[in-house]
Amino acid sequence: MSYAPAMLPRHGADARTILWALLMPTVLLAQLARPALVPYLSPLSFYLAMAAGTIAHNHNHCPTFKSRRLNAFFAAWVSVFYGYPTFAWVPTHNLNHHKHVNREGDATITWRHTNRNTWWIAVSYFFVSAYYQSGPIKEYIRKAKASNGRLYRQIVTQYTVWIGCLVGVAAVAIARHGLGTGLYVYMLAFGLPSFFGTWSMMWFNYMQHVHCDPWSEHNHSRNITGRIFNFLVFNAGLHTAHHENPGAHWSKLPEIHARLAPNIDPALNEPSFLWWVFRAYVVSAFVPRLETKQIGRAPFDPPADAKAIRARSEKKNAPVTDSVDAHEMGTNAQIA
Ligand SMILES: [Zn+2]
Repeated sequence: MSYAPAMLPRHGADARTILWALLMPTVLLAQLARPALVPYLSPLSFYLAMAAGTIAHNHNHCPTFKSRRLNAFFAAWVSVFYGYPTFAWVPTHNLNHHKHVNREGDATITWRHTNRNTWWIAVSYFFVSAYYQSGPIKEYIRKAKASNGRLYRQIVTQYTVWIGCLVGVAAVAIARHGLGTGLYVYMLAFGLPSFFGTWSMMWFNYMQHVHCDPWSEHNHSRNITGRIFNFLVFNAGLHTAHHENPGAHWSKLPEIHARLAPNIDPALNEPSFLWWVFRAYVVSAFVPRLETKQIGRAPFDPPADAKAIRARSEKKNAPVTDSVDAHEMGTNAQIA
């Protein structure tokens, strides 16, 4: 019997996911070995941390490998560079955000204190969202501890590996280069990029839902449609297609988006990420009336058929079973 097929990704497109995952430690080690490379490679570390976030998201919806062990190993690997144990996506994202889609009940709502979209609210969203996500994360760990030893061990492993690497890399950097240079290398090659990884994922959630209409069939999310952007983030720009098919592999999102696009408000299909950010935050900082506006119905303004709409999205995102065990491999995973 050969173990080779279990080692292969379930989708050929994930060869790139694996390549990116291998680049993460390579770029880090190069900077640890040669601090002179930090100014050149640090931006790449920031990008790879963000990419680790999109990979973690994809992996939790649609596991990369056939082998459970390899999936657990990969999740721990990505956690190190993403900047937080990746299991946390399941209680806060798969089981919560996908069900409530920025409506009341979503731990990651974009309108908690205001429905305005200014640069300050966008930047500080991370801290507000992280605070409200800690509840579902703790509850998930408690359930796993009580009823699913294997999942609980995976969670503990992810925390141990993540914290071990944070401390270990700092120790290596300082031992090798002394306190000053060591901290400089550590912060720019690992510490700050991994914080940016988590921050950027939360921010993407914010920009892809702020001022969208969660009561609408297709206008619940904002898409970035540019090809280069989607190449860099494993198609994470195509958020409507993802919400409507949460178990679909990331490589299938462009064709799903092409089918959905005519039914989406054109204002929610933005070709350029940088142009959107420039308009939404730089221009509006000087001309507040050009801030983005609510499209359609606001999340906090439920229509008469709100219950039916909520029931539909709950059905679309229903886990395989109610048990925490089903979520181990990703809520919406369809294992081939
Ligand atoms: Zn998702």
